[in-house]
Amino acid sequence: MLDKTVTGWQTLATELNFEGRAFINGRYVDALSGTTRPTINPANGNELTEVASCGIEDAELAVNGARAAFESGAWSRMAPMDRKMVLVRWAELIEKHADELALLETLDVGKPISDTTQVDVPATVRTIRWSGEAIDKVYDEIPPTPADTLALVQRLPLGVVAAIVPWNFPLSTTAWKLAPSLATGNSVILKPATNTPLSALFIAGLASEAGLPDGVLQVLPGPGSSLGRHLALHMDIDGLTFTGSTPVGKMLMEYSGQSNLKRTFLELGGKSPNIVFADANLDKAAAMAAVAVFYNGGQTCTAGTRLIVEEKIQDRFLEMVVDKARNWMPGNPLDPATAMGPMIDAAQCRTVAEYIDIGHREGAELLFGGRQVLEETGGHYHEPSIFAGVNNAMRIAQEEIFGPVLSVIPFKTAEQAVQIANDSIYGLAGAVWSNNINTAHRVAEAVRVGTMGINNYFGGDITVPFGGFKQSGNGRDKSIHAFHDYTELKTTWIEFD
Ligand code: NAD
Repeated sequence: MLDKTVTGWQTLATELNFEGRAFINGRYVDALSGTTRPTINPANGNELTEVASCGIEDAELAVNGARAAFESGAWSRMAPMDRKMVLVRWAELIEKHADELALLETLDVGKPISDTTQVDVPATVRTIRWSGEAIDKVYDEIPPTPADTLALVQRLPLGVVAAIVPWNFPLSTTAWKLAPSLATGNSVILKPATNTPLSALFIAGLASEAGLPDGVLQVLPGPGSSLGRHLALHMDIDGLTFTGSTPVGKMLMEYSGQSNLKRTFLELGGKSPNIVFADANLDKAAAMAAVAVFYNGGQTCTAGTRLIVEEKIQDRFLEMVVDKARNWMPGNPLDPATAMGPMIDAAQCRTVAEYIDIGHREGAELLFGGRQVLEETGGHYHEPSIFAGVNNAMRIAQEEIFGPVLSVIPFKTAEQAVQIANDSIYGLAGAVWSNNINTAHRVAEAVRVGTMGINNYFGGDITVPFGGFKQSGNGRDKSIHAFHDYTELKTTWIEFD
């Protein structure tokens, strides 16, 4: 039985095998150039291991292998029932290694161990299992045609798909991409974020063990600007699925146009509104306002970074939110009591500090936090921070900070709350808190985002689609809707004599 205390996790960490090689054609291999780069534990700045830094020649090997696997039909033409069994076995193997994997993710990303054990790893298992179990229950269509004709409308795999993912939820975004793309019969080349490759490399080996044919899943760690760009411009890659920042997403659309118009689906940034009316359950709303922005250190695309509060309760409600913020002081991610860990790296922590300065300069009032802390650890920790007196035109209300910084904006009427919420280039997520069913539904309907909570934040599970409106993206992860991003619609029209 694993000792799930700081000491227990530290002991397990000394026994972990950090696999840093690429995974190509069913084997772990070094980059052909032999180049590596270190991956760092954000909690203390220590190197965890050296990781292969793949280049163009590795990409060519991976694309050729993926194409050959696709053409062979070993996976793409395998009966859905059999593909299901492989994916379900993969989910079971991941579950069997849940503790090691959670620890690996905590060490590589700095996420609290309570999150990786209770959220990231279980969500990964659920996503892969659910997509596998779904695939032999999805039917194609026979449309209503005239006599003596029959039409078939089928969904066929795209072929070779590249998946490029970020560092903030490395494991769960990897699962959101791999589960539906593999379930629908594609071969997939995954490029993890440069600084968080370890969990994806770990689960790739388990996929082989579960029976995934060689070449169907390739994992190439390496830089976005060279390796990622090369994949996005590749003429023999049919689809690209991406989670990351809006500026990089825009480049990927251009690369698609410059190359072969590969189907390109994007999950991008956000600046999500969390709207609180005076008639809400304020205790719950205050606790969740803190969760919405401070969870994962605010390094969450759906973070509720704009708290839009009915003016008449603003002072009382902010006292409650500040009180909740005290529970989010950062600490050692291996301590099960820690709610918030370090920022991913020094650059991200600097960005947060810069936005604290910008908030001051713009005339907002810092109610709580605002400082870097725990510098003696070698990690990059930042206090949960709250600005009041924010105007939605300020940069701290418009730009994605990707850190634990909340901007509080007052409103007087429901129309004004909706107008503020929608005054953003983003449209990823949001929430409204009210005990009046009419107010809650009206506002939820009017806010232009892909996922809206009523009296909850971060609600949802694998059964519902996830993605953005506006500059938050165009694709959909999760649920059967995700299968559409990885398939082409094909019509066959038959006439009888
Ligand atoms: P990023 O855009 O810098 O990097 C994401 C991935 O793209 C990495 O693997 C990176 O190596 C690669 N990349 C970078 N430049 C590239 C290029 N020119 N060509 C091809 N690939 C390239 O994002 P990040 O800093 O890793 O992650 C944070 C961002 O991700 C935030 O904006 C956040 O909102 C967003 N995000 C969105 C979702 C969502 O589902 N909507 C989820 C998580 C994170």
